[in-house]
Amino acid sequence: PSGLVWLRRDLRSHDHAALHQALRQCQRVWCVFVFDTDILQPLLERGLQADRRVEFIHESLIDLDEQLRALGRSNGTEGVGLLVCHGRAIEQIPRLAAQLGVQAVYANHDHEPAALARDAQVRGALAHEGVLLHTYKDQVVFERHEILNQSGHAFTVFTPYKKAWLQSLTPSHTQPHPVERFADALAPCPPGLATGVPPLEALGFVPSNLRELKIRTGSRGALALLEDFLARIEHYGQTRDFPALKGPSYLSVHLRFGTLSIRQAVRLAHDLHQQGVAGASTWLSELIWREFYQQILAHFPHVAERAFKPVYDRIRWEHGKTAQAHFAAWCAGQTGYPLVDAAMHQLNQSGYMHNRLRMVAASFLCKDLGLDWRWGERYFADHLIDFDLAANNGGWQWCASSGCDAQPYFRIFNPVLQSEKFDPQGKFIRRYLPPLASLPDAQLHAPWRASAHDLAAAGVALGRNYPAPLVDHFEARALTLERYAVARTET
Ligand code: FAD
Repeated sequence: PSGLVWLRRDLRSHDHAALHQALRQCQRVWCVFVFDTDILQPLLERGLQADRRVEFIHESLIDLDEQLRALGRSNGTEGVGLLVCHGRAIEQIPRLAAQLGVQAVYANHDHEPAALARDAQVRGALAHEGVLLHTYKDQVVFERHEILNQSGHAFTVFTPYKKAWLQSLTPSHTQPHPVERFADALAPCPPGLATGVPPLEALGFVPSNLRELKIRTGSRGALALLEDFLARIEHYGQTRDFPALKGPSYLSVHLRFGTLSIRQAVRLAHDLHQQGVAGASTWLSELIWREFYQQILAHFPHVAERAFKPVYDRIRWEHGKTAQAHFAAWCAGQTGYPLVDAAMHQLNQSGYMHNRLRMVAASFLCKDLGLDWRWGERYFADHLIDFDLAANNGGWQWCASSGCDAQPYFRIFNPVLQSEKFDPQGKFIRRYLPPLASLPDAQLHAPWRASAHDLAAAGVALGRNYPAPLVDHFEARALTLERYAVARTET
């Protein structure tokens, strides 16, 4: 038999569940990626021609195509490579399957609601032609039905979930799904089809600043980042909360697009955790948070639109002109709160935001500006290079207190104290907010409290080269407690 491997958020050619299965089950295997116009067209229509994610995928596919060619050559087969289509996946996959005459299409599970709907359609169209769609677990170590509480229900609190997750983990869960030794089955591109990645421009996109940012793409990029991180993982627990330090791994985009295998990441982290490396235990916990939110989205898909806890849907968020203006200021990093603004500049300039700052910026949107968390969630979804529906939604609902196991609604981050605590010397703020660079450390976190003399000496003119604060935190806090009164019945 012959098979077609359809790559989606698993852009690597090693330790790959679907590819492994196809190579073992078929004599001839081809690999395809579809630039899906159902996903890309709406971006283009909204003017997002320079999208870092599309470029990240594009660069990673070039890497993947080379890897497949090398795998073919190592087995004496010339002409192996990646097939790349541009069109609607629901049409392209059945069309290509028919053209190649395969008996089955192989893919890895994707549990996002839109992906489930797409896959159901593809499965139906393929079945019509007598072609099967086989899908496998690859994106997570444990899927939603694998970690359940004693009554057989989903966990909605992280700590017991993590405990059960760790207890269930055996070496077999993180064993690689090898590709190389089965690579003989990789078939050359048949006549009439071409392998290789078309230029970005042919897809309607233009380069973003991905290269300038030196973001490493493809599985080669992922491995380089992983190595770099492993050399400092022991300090992760102490450094991870300070945005001016190189603390976290920066691997989120690679986990998002599968240029890094989650099994490899968990295996390494778990080994070090067992050796007593505290930083590795903390990092492993973060990888478990990733799976926690994935299973929340899979079990409770309503969270994609509504609060996990329905009582929070009754909150009356600010709306109208002032709310719109506040939202625009938040997006542009113009709130007058330096840490929040620096965070938004980091997002806008690089597509990445440090985890601590995601919490601070999100909390500020909901609890200082009184705006609906979905507005911020949407903005992050458009701008984060590592955007992942489950993690982003989980993070936003945590900050808005509407999520499972969320921050209690009456715990409200003080953006100035967060700034003093996590960027004490203002290194991060100064990097992103040059107009404030000359303010002394003590005044940098709340410039409106500085004396006129200090402001003038530092060249800061509030309302001119840096905004005055949009709201007073303490007034906003009181309003938020009132706004959240609807939730009091719940606690
Ligand atoms: P590291 O600290 O090195 O963590 C390692 C990995 O663990 C990450 O790459 C990620 O895959 C996972 N992880 C870490 N923290 C979390 C978490 N809280 N929830 C789920 N997974 C986690 N993460 C995304 O991958 N995509 C998103 O769209 C996203 N949106 C977020 C929105 C908000 C409001 C908040 C508070 C958090 C969000 N996160 C999101 C989680 C977290 O901020 C990022 O995963 C992290 O900052 C990525 O950087 P890193 O790879 O250097 O992380």
